[in-house]
Amino acid sequence: MALTAEQLDELRRAIEARHTVLLAEVHSDVARARDESYGEVAGPVTDPADRAAAYLISDVDQAEVTRDLLEVRELEAARARLADGSFGYCADCGLEIAFERLRVNQGATRCVDCQRVHEKTYAHPAEPRL
Ligand SMILES: [Zn+2]
Repeated sequence: MALTAEQLDELRRAIEARHTVLLAEVHSDVARARDESYGEVAGPVTDPADRAAAYLISDVDQAEVTRDLLEVRELEAARARLADGSFGYCADCGLEIAFERLRVNQGATRCVDCQRVHEKTYAHPAEPRL
């Protein structure tokens, strides 16, 4: 394992902290989305334009929840890789992923070079990665 025990410890703590924050965010997003669909935003709205705006708001909330849940899953996958010892290695080329990259994005599964190739091959414009 190329990462030191201290580095792994730091990343493990970062994963757990981020995971906790994300779950709290998802919970409050879902609660807010629920309030908005039945509350004042979408409540006594009769104008079709206002109704469209209310739907738009819940779409945005949904996108946010979807994005948060995706990150939760990535962190849980990272946690599993920590457990089985494959954490920190590129899923494509098998080389080590730089600690600095993992520090910023604990869910990273590829080294910078493979990530670049991957993004070129499967363009994901909505997913900026370091
Ligand atoms: Zn790679």
